[in-house]
Amino acid sequence: MRYQNTYAQLDTRLYHEQLPNPLDNPRAGHFNNQVADQLGWTKAADLMARWVEILGGQYVPAEFQPLSMAYAGHQFGQWAGQLGDGRGLLMTQVLDKNNQLQDLHLKGAGLTPYSRMGDGRAVLRSTIREYLCGHALTQLGIASSNALGFVVSDTKVRRERLEAGAALMRVADSHIRLGHVEWIASFAPDLLAEFTDYMIDTYYPECRDSEKPVLAFLQAVVERTARMIADWQLIGFAHGVMNTDNLSITGSTLDFGPFGFMERFNPAWINNHSDHSGRYAYQNQPAIGHWNLNVWLPHFMRLTQAGVTRETLADCLAPYEATFMQHYQQGLCRKLGLPHQRESLSLAFEWLTLLEDNLLDYTNSFRALLGLIAPNEHLYEQQLLATMTAELNPEAQQVWQVWSTRYLAQIQQVSITQAIEEMQASNPIYILRNSMAQRVIVAAEQGQFEELNRVFDLLAKPYTLQDSAIELDTLPPAPHAPQMPISCSS
Ligand code: AMP
Ligand code: MG
Ligand code: MG
Repeated sequence: MRYQNTYAQLDTRLYHEQLPNPLDNPRAGHFNNQVADQLGWTKAADLMARWVEILGGQYVPAEFQPLSMAYAGHQFGQWAGQLGDGRGLLMTQVLDKNNQLQDLHLKGAGLTPYSRMGDGRAVLRSTIREYLCGHALTQLGIASSNALGFVVSDTKVRRERLEAGAALMRVADSHIRLGHVEWIASFAPDLLAEFTDYMIDTYYPECRDSEKPVLAFLQAVVERTARMIADWQLIGFAHGVMNTDNLSITGSTLDFGPFGFMERFNPAWINNHSDHSGRYAYQNQPAIGHWNLNVWLPHFMRLTQAGVTRETLADCLAPYEATFMQHYQQGLCRKLGLPHQRESLSLAFEWLTLLEDNLLDYTNSFRALLGLIAPNEHLYEQQLLATMTAELNPEAQQVWQVWSTRYLAQIQQVSITQAIEEMQASNPIYILRNSMAQRVIVAAEQGQFEELNRVFDLLAKPYTLQDSAIELDTLPPAPHAPQMPISCSS
């Protein structure tokens, strides 16, 4: 691997150098060969042979420079002060195959100075959820952290019950969160200029060409965040805990806890059971992204020499909404196979209303439209369509008839081949349903990993129909079934 431990060269107030605390008897959970290959991990015989020991914290290769990072954050809208890596360590940074810097971060590595009341561990249940989610989002084409693999162990960890301790090697383009800047502003303001330079040089080097690199950087963070959240809305992803310490400065999805994928469509859906006010409900995500950036940006006011003023900051944030809307609406039209224009959008919003009014499955319903426009080549989608329409009451049947006639008329105006291509590439067949993750977890807690392997392979090609799929993979819960409780406990 091409090591490049640049974070470890920054001011020592920003982190604490330390080793992982080994897990007891770590065993292989899963290993992502594609990620390993991307990192150059596969080429190192020592790393390949000893990956379980490395993830279990037993063996630290000489080139690694493990450290826990300091950061702060706003949690559920309140200033939370210092947080930091309480159970994870940045193990090393490497240049991947595409010369992109990647962080390898071991989550579940034991106590750090930032552990506060926690035990420094991660349980198998949440490790599997994070592992599958990073994989699913990456394969869906959404900017996200992913993982090299995970191990399970004999270390016991107390949550609501006693659970198996596990550790996951997270791979992300950055682990710098909005909360890093909040920490610096509160605890080491003299470091802000240097740290900003580091963020620009490392993650936004193109901003150096701008007359005001800091402002260009801030605007780019705003834009990437808006685009990431638009991608979430389009695929039906709810992050669940969008605190400022859980949002990356690169606009890449980070920190999977009480996340979920939309099943029966309900914009007000709250996946996180600990989120009593619904702050992080699916439909609030775009506004929360804005809220987070709005508390984040003023910290840069200190950098007056870089041209940062209240006015220039407002100019950086202003494009957020338009960027989000553009990306979201374009994506929505693409999901319908239609050009981005007013008629398509009004059809799209009526379609979403139909889904909402009838609690239809978000993923399956979009995919079912292929069974409407090109039934002969889409037998599976025809079946989805039949299932969908069977759920409509007579009144909704009529709405559907009118809508689908108008939709088909619009589709006639465009190249059907292109429409099919766009729809196949933006409407997945497989998402990580909570019930699906749950089945994997139940089996894994009994030491059985076949279901994990199967689901992992399924999610590797979410847009392609696969023989290994079972009916449960694509089955939404019953319309008014109580929601599976997903909490922050991890
Ligand atoms: P999260 O809600 O997962 O984003 O975590 C918020 C903060 O709590 C971060 O500083 C985490 O490092 C810390 N944290 C979460 N779980 C634990 C744990 N089991 N032990 C120590 N720190 C934790
Ligand atoms: Mg977090
Ligand atoms: Mg977390």
